[in-house]
Formats: sequence, C-alpha cells, structure tokens
Amino acid sequence: MKPSIVNELAQVVGEKFVSTREDVLHTYASSASMAKNPVRPGAVVRPSDADEIAALLKIANKHQIPVTIRSGGTSLQGEVIPKPDGLVIELMRLNGIQLFEDLRSVRVGAGVTYGELDKFLSKHGLWLPISPESALGCTVAGNVAVNGAGPGSSLFGCTGEMVLGLEIVLPNSEKIQTGSEANPYAPGPFLRYAFGPDITGLFIGSLGSLGVITSVSMKVFKRMEFFDYNMYGFDSYQQAEKFLMELKDNDVNAVFTSLYEGPVLEFFMEMMGDEYGIPPMEWPYRTVSMTIGRVREDMLKSDAKLARNLCEQTGGRVIGIEQFPKNEWEGRFWTFVRACYVHGWHWRTLYHHQTPTNSHRSVEEITKVMDKYGFLGHTAGFVTGHASTNMYPHLYFDPVDPEDEAKIVEAHDELASTLFKTGAVPFKLAPFWKGRMEGTEKYMEFLSQLKRAIDPNNIMNPGVLGGI
Ligand SMILES: Cc1cc2nc3c(=O)[nH]c(=O)nc-3n(C[C@H](O)[C@H](O)[C@H](O)COP(=O)(O)OP(=O)(O)OC[C@H]3O[C@@H](n4cnc5c(N)ncnc54)[C@H](O)[C@@H]3O)c2cc1C
Repeated sequence: MKPSIVNELAQVVGEKFVSTREDVLHTYASSASMAKNPVRPGAVVRPSDADEIAALLKIANKHQIPVTIRSGGTSLQGEVIPKPDGLVIELMRLNGIQLFEDLRSVRVGAGVTYGELDKFLSKHGLWLPISPESALGCTVAGNVAVNGAGPGSSLFGCTGEMVLGLEIVLPNSEKIQTGSEANPYAPGPFLRYAFGPDITGLFIGSLGSLGVITSVSMKVFKRMEFFDYNMYGFDSYQQAEKFLMELKDNDVNAVFTSLYEGPVLEFFMEMMGDEYGIPPMEWPYRTVSMTIGRVREDMLKSDAKLARNLCEQTGGRVIGIEQFPKNEWEGRFWTFVRACYVHGWHWRTLYHHQTPTNSHRSVEEITKVMDKYGFLGHTAGFVTGHASTNMYPHLYFDPVDPEDEAKIVEAHDELASTLFKTGAVPFKLAPFWKGRMEGTEKYMEFLSQLKRAIDPNNIMNPGVLGGI
C-alpha cells in the first residue's frame, strides 16, 4: 500500500495502531480457515471506536481500497481472508459491556468475545444462551456477522434470533442504530422489530460486506443451572430423526442435540475416548447426544424422564454415557474440531442446514463424493431451533500434497451443488456457494442490487457474500 495512504490511516488511528510490517501482514493474511490460501493485505489498522472506523472508510472509498473487517479471525470458510494489498480493519479494541437487567438485554462492543461476555454475565446469574464452539476467540459481533449457531441453538435457534439491535457504520461512513435503541430516549435494547422493516436482519449474516457492526445488543436469559447429559442409540436414521421431532413436539428443553453416525464416533473416540473417559464400545448406526437444561431441577427431571421414554417409543435405546454430551456442552472447544487441530489435519468445511427429516441426505451425499474422489471425511449435525439441523461436512486432505488438495476443492464444489438439490440451504453464505444455488438467481440479483446501493464503490469485502 502506498506510504501516503498509510500515512492517512495513521492520522486516524495513530501510528501505533497501523501496521505494514511483514510479520503482521503475514498474520492477518490467514484465519482459522486452514484450507484457504493466505492473501497478504496492504495494511492492518486497529481502530478504537465507530468514529475512527467512519474516517477509515472515507479513506478506503477515496482510494477504492477493498476492506476486510476482522474480529476474532476464527471463521472457517475463508470469509475474513483479505484482498491483495487491501485494508484489514481489526475491531478487537472496541470493548465495553453494558447490562440492562430489567430489559433482559446486554450491549457489547464489537471486540467482545463470548468468553468475556460469559464471564461477565455469570456474575449476574445470566447468560447469552447460544455460543459457538470457538467461544473463547470469537466475538459476539463476528458471530452475528456470520449468523452462526452452536451449543444452545437446539433450543434458542441461530445467533440472529438473539439480536435486538445493532450499531452500524455504513460504507458511506454514516453511523446508524437499529432496533428500539434507534430512539435516543429508549432506556436500552428491548425490541428489534421497531421502525418498519427489519434493518437489523439485513446485517445479520452479511459477512462484513454491507457495513461495520460496531456494537450489538443481545437478549440475555436467566442462567440454567440444572443439566441432564445422555446419549441415545438408533438402528435407522428414520428412528433417530423421529426422536428429534418428538423431542420438539413434547417441549423437551434440549439445549444441545447432536446427531452422529456410528463409524464417525468410532473413529473419533478411538483418538479421544480415553481423554473423555468414554469406554470403548460399538456405536449404533445413529447416535443422538443431548444436553437438556432447565432453571429448575423438577422440570429437568421430568424432561429427562420424558426424553428416555420418547427414545424407547421411537425404537431406540438409552446409551447412558454422559461424558460425551457433557464435554460437548461444557468444553466447547474440546470436540471434533480440536481433534483435527491436535492431529494436524486439514479440512474444508461446507456448513449447511437441512430439515429435521433430511439430515440423512447430507450423509448420503458426502459418502457418494468420498467414494467418487477417494478421501476421508464425515458429516455430523446439531438441531438449530424450530425445524432445522445444522450439518457440517468435513473433507480432509493432506496439506503438503497439492493433488490431494485440488481433489478436495473439486469434491467440495460438487458437494455444494448436490447438497443444494437435496433442499439444503447455506449456513453462512460463503463465496463457494456462488453458482451452486440453482433457482436463486433473482434473489441473488436483488442482494447484489442492495450491495451496490449501500456500497457503490464495492469496497466492503467484495465477492464474499455468495460471490457478490
Ligand atoms: C474451533 C472452532 C469452532 C467453531 N465453532 C463454531 C460454531 O459452533 N458455530 C459457529 O457459528 N461458528 C463456529 N466456528 C466459526 C467461527 O468461530 C465463526 O464464524 C465466528 O462467528 C467468527 O467470529 P470472529 O469474531 O472470529 O469473526 P471473523 O472470523 O473475524 O469474521 C467473520 C466474518 O464476519 C465479518 N465480520 C466480523 N466482525 C464483523 C463486524 N463487527 N461487522 C461486520 N462484519 C464483521 C468478517 O468480515 C468475516 O466476513 C468455529 C471456528 C473454530 C476455529
């Protein structure tokens, strides 16, 4: 990046918070998306507030520099990889947590991680009930920007469901507030759907392509203290999927319900079972791992009993191992993703949502591409609210073998198309969905028009939102 532009940036954030050092650029060239090639930006800036961000966007517009907004850098689908010689605006200095206890809400700066927020809320007996497994490194705003999901989603839905309002710096450097807080006299965040259409929603899942979220206002709830952890085995996918639907229909308070194939569990438990304290066993064809949570013990006992009955009524059996769901729920990071990092594996992922009775289609499709291309992979899923299941296929490859990696890229592309045709929808509209979503042409054109209207110079993370 030209030194004169770097100078302009420094005048906004101060010399200390702009860098063109080789080692810094190298760090910001990549993210947790291990299967994406690094791209070296031209400069990295670390503003402290919305006003500085507004001034930085003016400079970027003036010089037509592509901007990548970066928070924790934990995204897995290449969303935060910069553009060559572009500008990375890192938001981790935007801290601050403001609790509105009477309104059951909290407002946090864009740099606040789930870990920090949870530590704060736990002192008040509260929580934000959904948090991704990357909770210690990922920011709340970053997860809103991708509309993520994770433990807690099985009851509360995707992250977007928790959002009451956003403060946003638009690409033209104007600052807006959405939700009830748009009223400067409002006592705090208490309603998202005020002031006409859901402008908040426009920015949820926007992947830094429409503006910069500088603070998020989220719902908080009384912290659950009582949990039941169990695993349930089934001999067919129909039984397992029926069980998941019965749990919903009977209002069992399952905060995290995951669905695994037998061979996948066998494989991973061989690596990690000892550490979890899980005895070696032959895992059933399908296993549901579930954490039920309640604020009252009597309610928990009743739900746990009901879940066991429903399992048996749908033809399953209660496995009775609690360590696995307990680690999933409490450990967050200590699950499969970690196993891959620990063992140095590389993978491409292809997050998507299926309906409750369609998750087996994802397993079938990944099995087909694994057979065709000859690689190791798997998919598992978790319930994400009212009627969806988040599936996350992992396609493993050897990072030092370019042919192996090329094969995975091809298989990944093919899988995106075939999964879409099973009725699946993207979870995070990452760039690889481009051209893979037959029948959405008009919708994508509309999205593209919106992007052009809001960001006429196309500086904000161009190409990231399904190719837009
Ligand atoms: C071990 C591991 C486990 C994971 N588990 C989960 C999981 O359970 N659920 C889940 O949803 N994800 C999961 N992820 C993926 C990742 O944590 C999420 O995508 C997360 O939301 C990214 O947040 P971040 O702060 O790291 O954002 P970044 O990676 O920095 O950015 C992500 C995207 O959002 C944009 N962005 C970030 N902040 C803002 C902002 N303030 N305003 C506008 N745009 C912004 C960026 O431009 C980029 O497009 C996991 C990742 C890892 C490494």
